[in-house]
Amino acid sequence: MQTYEFDTVILGGGPAGFSAGLYASRGGISAAIVDVNMLGGQPSNYLELENYPGFSKIGGYDLMEKFEQHADMFGLQKFPMQEIETIDLVSQPKIIKTKTDEFHAKTVIIATGAKPMKLCIPGEEEFIGRGVSYCAVCDGAFYKDKVIAVVGGGNSAVEEAVYLTRFASKVYIIHRRDELRADKIIQQRAFDNEKIEIIWDTCVTEIKGENTVNSIILKNAKSAEFTTLGVEGIFPYIGICPNVEKINGQVAQDSKGFILTDETMKTSIEGVYAVGDVRNTPLRQVITAASDGATGAVYALKYIDSLKGVKV
Ligand code: NAP
Repeated sequence: MQTYEFDTVILGGGPAGFSAGLYASRGGISAAIVDVNMLGGQPSNYLELENYPGFSKIGGYDLMEKFEQHADMFGLQKFPMQEIETIDLVSQPKIIKTKTDEFHAKTVIIATGAKPMKLCIPGEEEFIGRGVSYCAVCDGAFYKDKVIAVVGGGNSAVEEAVYLTRFASKVYIIHRRDELRADKIIQQRAFDNEKIEIIWDTCVTEIKGENTVNSIILKNAKSAEFTTLGVEGIFPYIGICPNVEKINGQVAQDSKGFILTDETMKTSIEGVYAVGDVRNTPLRQVITAASDGATGAVYALKYIDSLKGVKV
C-alpha cells in the first residue's frame, strides 16, 4: 500500500475532471485524477460531437485525448483503474483508499459523472449483452440489418437512434409522451430518417427472448392496451443518475442523488467541490462540464491558499 499526498485529488477523468486537473496543475498545486475506469469519461463513447466550440466535428475519444494531453503538459498525475474502497471527505486531510493505494488531499474535486438509468422491467438485466445495450457506439455494429428499438425522447435517445440506422434495417423510438424532449435540430434528423419510426405515448413493460431478445411488450399510455413488437435489440436511453456510491450521505444531494453546489462548485463540505454531470446542473454537456471543472479548480486553489493564510 502506497500513500500519496496531493493538494487536490480529482475523482473522475472525464471532461470536468481533466479541465479541473488542467486548471489546478497550471495554477501550481499538486493534483491527481483518480478514476475507477479508463480515463476519458462518458464522451469517450460518443461517436462524434459537433457542439464543442472550436471543433465543428470531432470524435468523442479524440476530444478527450486532447483534454488529457493538455492537462499532462502541466504535470497532472493520473491514476486510472483504481478500485476505490472508501472516500472520507470530512477528515482533514481527506482520504481516498483504493485496493492498492491511499490518497491524502487538502481538497477533493468530485467529477465522477453519471451513468445510464435502467428501465427496471422484467428481462432487462437478463438480456444485457444479449439484446439489451446502453451504448450504441459500442454495440450498434452487432445489429446490422436487424430491427431494434431505442427507448426515450431526450437528446441521447434520438441521437443514438439516428446513429443506429447506420446498421439496423429499422429503428423504433419508443417514447412515453407525444412530444420529444430532444433539441429541435436533433429531432429533425430523426423525422427525416426513413429507417426511424416513433411510437408515441408508449412504455416498454417487458423484454422477451430465448437466448437473445426477440420481442418487447408495449403498453399504450392512453389506451392501456398491450402489444408485442418484434425486435432483436433494445437500447434504453432514459436519462442518467449520478456516480455517487462511495460519496452518498457525506455531501448535500438532491432527491435523485445529484450533488448540490454553489456557483463556485463548493459542496456542503469545506474544501470539497463537485463538477460536471455529477452535480445538480441544468445542462449536461462537455462544455459545461469543462467550465465547471475550471471553476471548481480555481476555487480549490483559493481554498488551499486560505489554508496557508494567504489573503484571497
Ligand atoms: P434526458 O434528457 O433526461 O431524457 C430522458 C428521456 O427518457 C426523456 O424523454 C424521458 O421522458 C424519458 N424517460 C425517463 N424515464 C423513463 C422511463 N422510466 N421510461 C421511459 N422513458 C423514460 O436524458 P438524456 O437524453 O440521457 O440526456 C442527459 C443529458 O445529457 C441532457 O442534459 C442532454 O441534453 C445531454 N445530452 C446532450 C447531447 C447533445 O447536446 N448532443 C447528447 C446527449 C445528451 P420525458 O421526456 O417524458 O421526461
